[in-house]
Amino acid sequence: MNDVITKSLYCSLLSCDRYAWLSRHKPEKYVEKKQEDILQNGKEVGELARNLFGDFDLIEFNKNINTMIDETQESVERGTHIIAEASFRFENAFCSVDILKNDIDGVEVYEVKSSTEIQDIYLDDVAFQVYILKHLGYRVKKANIVYLNSEYVRHGDLELDKLFVIEDVTEIIKPREALVKDNITRILNNLNSKKEIKNDIDSYCFKPYECPFIEYCMKDLPKPNVFDIRRMKITDKLKLYKAGKISFEDLVNENINEKYLQQIDFELNDKDDYINKENIEDFLNKLSYPLYFLDFETYQQAIPLYDGISPYMQIPFQYSLHYINDNVLEHTEFLGEEGTDPRRKLALSLISDIKPDTCVLAYNMSFEKGVIKNLAKMYPDLSKALMNIHDNIVDLMVPFYNRDYYTKDMKGSYSIKYVLPALFSDDPSLNYHNLKLIHNGSEAMNAFNTLTDYDDEQRKIIRKNLLEYCKLDTFAMVKIWQKLNEICGKDINISI
Ligand code: SF4
Repeated sequence: MNDVITKSLYCSLLSCDRYAWLSRHKPEKYVEKKQEDILQNGKEVGELARNLFGDFDLIEFNKNINTMIDETQESVERGTHIIAEASFRFENAFCSVDILKNDIDGVEVYEVKSSTEIQDIYLDDVAFQVYILKHLGYRVKKANIVYLNSEYVRHGDLELDKLFVIEDVTEIIKPREALVKDNITRILNNLNSKKEIKNDIDSYCFKPYECPFIEYCMKDLPKPNVFDIRRMKITDKLKLYKAGKISFEDLVNENINEKYLQQIDFELNDKDDYINKENIEDFLNKLSYPLYFLDFETYQQAIPLYDGISPYMQIPFQYSLHYINDNVLEHTEFLGEEGTDPRRKLALSLISDIKPDTCVLAYNMSFEKGVIKNLAKMYPDLSKALMNIHDNIVDLMVPFYNRDYYTKDMKGSYSIKYVLPALFSDDPSLNYHNLKLIHNGSEAMNAFNTLTDYDDEQRKIIRKNLLEYCKLDTFAMVKIWQKLNEICGKDINISI
């Protein structure tokens, strides 16, 4: 068997035998999840962390792992103190150590992660590296995981010693180290098995990420099934699944939350829409005019580029604002300049666009409120005006969250991505799929984040599409608000 097991392969094939078999024998069933931003963050964080200990020798990536191993050997023999991507192989197991501290009396391993906390699988990752090093005769003095400090707030130059947390996991990984040899044997057997391996659905299918083979592994389950219940914890779904309560028919008499039962009942019995007019009317009566509809787009940076930013903090770069003024629907918007900190200009624009003490609708307002609160903290001189907007936000999601308006097409969700098509299934102007370039928040985030990579012409096109996407978000809110009024027989007489 000439298979080489890398540390990422080892970690991904560890928890489920079927994964290994499918990845070798049915790779076409792998449904790619968009992870470019995660990979890009990982690369940037890894490169920055190399500077934690001063000068270092970098073993460049080479498709021929023997070249990397030979170069590492030469560097170790030269007595290099810090080696980045130091590469080693023992039997079938190969690893590149993110940062290796090489001392006369032994080595220290530093595995760098772009997350803000340690996940279980990282411990297996480090255990795998330590196993290889020890079997090659190295004395491993310490094994560490290096990750981002979510509490760190940038002020001036980046302070690497504060941005990164270094956690010693030498002792914690010992039980995992003892299992590496057997795990490798099992992985190799799974990869090379002639017969399809069939593990049942379990927690490893969902954590730490949803498995890319999940569609294939669930293909024989009845539809809809317990995994289609919205907002139920995965542990609860698995409990029901293991008890044989799988189809919606199996679940009707279960002692579960009434919201889940409502979803099941509506879908199973093809029920008509449920509308509680009285409650919806109460909600609408709390709104006042002029009425605004606000939506932000934000992006995140693993490594904070600007002052006042922590790793992965939401940075607003755009908003769309529809508003009803004298019975006419009007629109305004803001989109930051790429490559600059957009926050102050955005805050100033927001304050000038929204009159004080006016009612602002947001859908899932905790997000918009959180963004405004952070801006107010960042800019004390604007805080009063920003907090005035913050305090006057009302959540348009409430009637759907409370299930005062529920249809079977909402499939147990109150997210606007479900509510909108459920209410306006025939309206192409409200269909995000009809937008050309940007169809959801994560595409918007990536588009803004990479704008500087494009030439002027391409940038113009992307910016136009960003504006169209965000405008649809608030237009959709206007339509939902209009629909709620119609249901209650309120004549709003707005020209849209
Ligand atoms: S979906 Fe679950 S059972 Fe199927 S390969 Fe992935 S982890 Fe294994």
